[in-house]
Amino acid sequence: MQNSTFTPPSPLMEITQRPETVFVKGQGSWLHDSEGNVYLDFVQGWAVNCLGHSPEPLVAAITAQAGQLINCSPAYFNQPMLDLAAALTNAADLDQLFFANSGAEANEGAIKLARKWGRLHRNGAYEIITMAHGFHGRTLATMAASGKDGWDKLYAPNIPGFPKIPFGDLQATAAAITDKTVAVMVEPVQGEAGVVDATDSYMRGLRALTEEHGILLIADEIQTGMGRTGKMFACQHAGIQPDIMTLGKGIGGGVPLAALLATGSASCFAHGDQGGTFNGNPLMTAAGLAVWEELNKPGFLDRVVAVGAYLTKGLERLSAKHGMGAVRGRGLLLALDLKAPVGGKIAAAALAAGLLLNAPRPDSLRFMPALNVSEAEVDQMLTILDKVIEQIMSRAA
Ligand SMILES: *Cc1c(COP(=O)(O)O)cnc(C)c1O
Repeated sequence: MQNSTFTPPSPLMEITQRPETVFVKGQGSWLHDSEGNVYLDFVQGWAVNCLGHSPEPLVAAITAQAGQLINCSPAYFNQPMLDLAAALTNAADLDQLFFANSGAEANEGAIKLARKWGRLHRNGAYEIITMAHGFHGRTLATMAASGKDGWDKLYAPNIPGFPKIPFGDLQATAAAITDKTVAVMVEPVQGEAGVVDATDSYMRGLRALTEEHGILLIADEIQTGMGRTGKMFACQHAGIQPDIMTLGKGIGGGVPLAALLATGSASCFAHGDQGGTFNGNPLMTAAGLAVWEELNKPGFLDRVVAVGAYLTKGLERLSAKHGMGAVRGRGLLLALDLKAPVGGKIAAAALAAGLLLNAPRPDSLRFMPALNVSEAEVDQMLTILDKVIEQIMSRAA
């Protein structure tokens, strides 16, 4: 029934509560809105803009490629697609790759690949063991693979085949493996769950367990990959190699690009099994190549580690001052445990004070700045956050 007095607030579907701010320009760690206000950005498109806003090498690569070749079908080769595929498979020590346009699509591809592999090599096994509170995307299958509360009911019927176990529990993983199991899927750091780090020994345990049972290990490195945790891929902290790995977010530095990588034996798509109109698009892969070159410059990842440690120390000081909890995470994927459900309030007040922050859970704040953020910008962030916390606490008292 149409209500004649109803005026929709925006022609955009309201998939989340957006502030009224309209952003018009970005440079490095800074954003400008249409009213002339300036913001320090520690969200960076959700850990996407790994080089900050409109970095020169990315702008140059996109501009040059746009004048050269924007699109041809993924049914044909293009040069940036070939070059980026070679670089990524080589760095990850995996054999083949499929480009996608979003993390969810890459994970959806990983799920398809594992199920196909199970049909070929494990008597039709199709179950993928996944983690409570995990996040793998918003397609129907990746929602089923995710462990977010309520998601199994949201678009029922839920896609079957994703038994859940507690994250970090090796015994539960071993107990969950049956002859229907084809893979275990894990995030090396559960980002959306509030930045919960898998220990290196857990990751190594998962690798050993999956190997022992002849099943696949799928690492969702969409948030943790591309240098975010201080290594190019977070699995490298544990010194393990998954059979299938997905990348997204930072891989395009802000443009829609993702990838599904696999070992030669897991890479079992046949003609017609997988595809997509925009996949491997030269404009996006040229952007990916420009990002890749920057991430591989000498000292780049060392800087991520150093600034990550600097930010951790600063957050620990704030936490001690305000009686808050621990700092979690690695590199420049960090969270502060607030010990109280004030995350939303702090993020809203921070925005008003010129700082973009994310509260992945009511009791935590997440920090995912550009990987080239400076110590001075970290200090500016901490100064604003300190004031905002004081303001919130005095109001609550
Ligand atoms: C963001 C994210 C996804 C989904 O990526 P989209 O590009 O939003 O589809 C999947 N897995 C993890 C770990 C993520 O952080």
